[in-house]
Amino acid sequence: MASSDQVKQYLAYWFQLGKRLKFDRGEAVLPQPVIQGNRYSPEFEACWQQALRVEGRDCYLEGTDQTVADLLSSNWDVTDCARCGMPVPTINLGVQPGSCPCFDLSTWPNPDLPQPRSPVDSRTQLEQIRDRLSQGS
Ligand SMILES: [Zn+2]
Repeated sequence: MASSDQVKQYLAYWFQLGKRLKFDRGEAVLPQPVIQGNRYSPEFEACWQQALRVEGRDCYLEGTDQTVADLLSSNWDVTDCARCGMPVPTINLGVQPGSCPCFDLSTWPNPDLPQPRSPVDSRTQLEQIRDRLSQGS
């Protein structure tokens, strides 16, 4: 089972490559920017909340068949694509059905482009540095 953090990161990564989140009624959302400074942007958080409000039912990443609800269920997990390293839905039991949404991105993977990333929590990093320094003294 993928944690909600994993699913959130999965969406954030694919949004950065231009994939949209599709909702039941044909609505498709692509929040921009995804990252603002060291955090997810308010636009991205609003989109994530929109998905959570319907408990991920009937909303799914463009190019995939698995809804956010599927990913949050015990049947599915999010692991790295063998081709491009991006997070992809994988089923925990049985045959692997889908493919990575990168299949229709002819320009991906591209080592020359900035890789999708998670927001860096600079406060945690600073605390780690501070802890290291205080241990040394
Ligand atoms: Zn891939």
